[in-house]
Amino acid sequence: MNSTLPTRNPRTGVIDHPMPVADAAEVATVAARLRAAQPAWAARPAADRLAVLAAFADALLAGQPALVEVLSHDTGRRHESALEVLGVVGTIRRWLDDAPALLADEPQRRSRTPHILIEQHRRPYGVAGVISPWNFPLLLSLIDAIPALVAGCAVLIKPSEATPRFVPVLRDVVATVPGLAEVLALVTGAGSTGEALVRNVDVLCFTGSVKTGRRVALLAAEAFVPAHLELGGKDPAIVCDDADLQRAARALAWGSMGSAGQSCMSIERCYVQRRVHDAFVERLAAEVRALQPNWPDIAQGQIGPIIAAVQVPTVRRHLEEALAQGATAVTGGRVVERGGGLWCEPTVLTGTTQAMAVVAEESFAAILPVMPFDDDEHAIALANDSDFGLSACVFSRDLDRARAIAARLQAGAVSINDAALTAMVYDAAKQSFKRSGLGGSRMGTASLQRFYRQQAFLINDGTPSPWWYGKATPTDN
Ligand code: NAD
Repeated sequence: MNSTLPTRNPRTGVIDHPMPVADAAEVATVAARLRAAQPAWAARPAADRLAVLAAFADALLAGQPALVEVLSHDTGRRHESALEVLGVVGTIRRWLDDAPALLADEPQRRSRTPHILIEQHRRPYGVAGVISPWNFPLLLSLIDAIPALVAGCAVLIKPSEATPRFVPVLRDVVATVPGLAEVLALVTGAGSTGEALVRNVDVLCFTGSVKTGRRVALLAAEAFVPAHLELGGKDPAIVCDDADLQRAARALAWGSMGSAGQSCMSIERCYVQRRVHDAFVERLAAEVRALQPNWPDIAQGQIGPIIAAVQVPTVRRHLEEALAQGATAVTGGRVVERGGGLWCEPTVLTGTTQAMAVVAEESFAAILPVMPFDDDEHAIALANDSDFGLSACVFSRDLDRARAIAARLQAGAVSINDAALTAMVYDAAKQSFKRSGLGGSRMGTASLQRFYRQQAFLINDGTPSPWWYGKATPTDN
């Protein structure tokens, strides 16, 4: 019999949910069932597959109240949970718009080599594996699953062990869509279930920490499957002296404190040109002070609890070390307990340095250290002084200046005159730089290419090839 793992409720701190753990045998069984069903799924006309996904979008909307309820228990927040469901529906609908053109047969064409016709075909991988983190449990479980299904793969998902409550509800939603459960399945468990998944899939999409991503990349290499890794970040913001400071402050308050900073695209470092540093900090602090915890009423306020207990020691260490080493908390500065849950107070820090853990390591919390820079060269050097390279943002009224800075930032997406736009802009391709990831773009239509291999038919429709060295024609013998 399979075991269970206890799951903690982030609002109450109470262990209130036993999560079933799929062992290696169960993962292999589910993967084998999906692999058996996949060829028929891939053989269906693209329009049929898209019709199933359209029905899935409708089913998610119909199931939204139940999903939001259970995601609220998983993450301790309601507003973001509602947005998660709508985000997935939007993702499906975007693929429904884009897929017909992307999946259309390519016309046969002549090669530059004489007498050869080329036919290009897409061959989807059998089972695409998805391993997801706890910060957006539903969205990050489905963001790669949707294009994989569009391409003709079956999909096996393993969500985070910190947020598994939504899984049975999502399975119920999937079951209402004819034909979907055959090719879309979820298993629950922790690292060992994830490892079993890697060993049983044909292509992998992993979202999580750099540490686990490294381990997963090694496992995928052993299993000889391609792995697309979306990992951690420490996104910098650069605020130039000609920026609209109020606009920057508002955008960065959202970009750093939204989802209580528990977002891979959160702004976690802010560099402000020295001349406007103090004026900017004043405006930013005013915006951040207005943010309230979503407690005791989950429907009120903007800041949810720290979702995963494993993150709490990191958040505390970053704050305590920074303050002990001379930083000032202009707002917040502590992790506080409310009703058994733990909240990071929305925190703006000044007096931080590149050497402090709160600037060098991913905090994944509502913390924004703000530091001055002298000129653009200095700002670029500070922003690039990081192991991470997920996203970044630049604020300047001079778009040419902003572009020149952006071009030199080692980051996959650079928002200009706004923050963390990858949270809502899904149709621009971007890849991770440095340790923030490996593999193809998750965003944009290019992301579909991760789920199939190109097969070429090379048809000789003219004279035989000149492969018979030393002989005039192959029929000479
Ligand atoms: P994590 O790496 O601890 O876990 C991620 C997933 O990996 C979980 O489902 C976990 O069970 C699984 N896992 C753990 N060990 C495994 C193993 N040995 N083999 C296979 N799977 C294993 O990450 P987390 O704490 O859940 O999530 C937070 C991290 O995710 C942060 O670093 C954040 O920046 C990152 N993240 C990145 C993106 C992005 O798009 N780049 C998006 C969201 C979150």
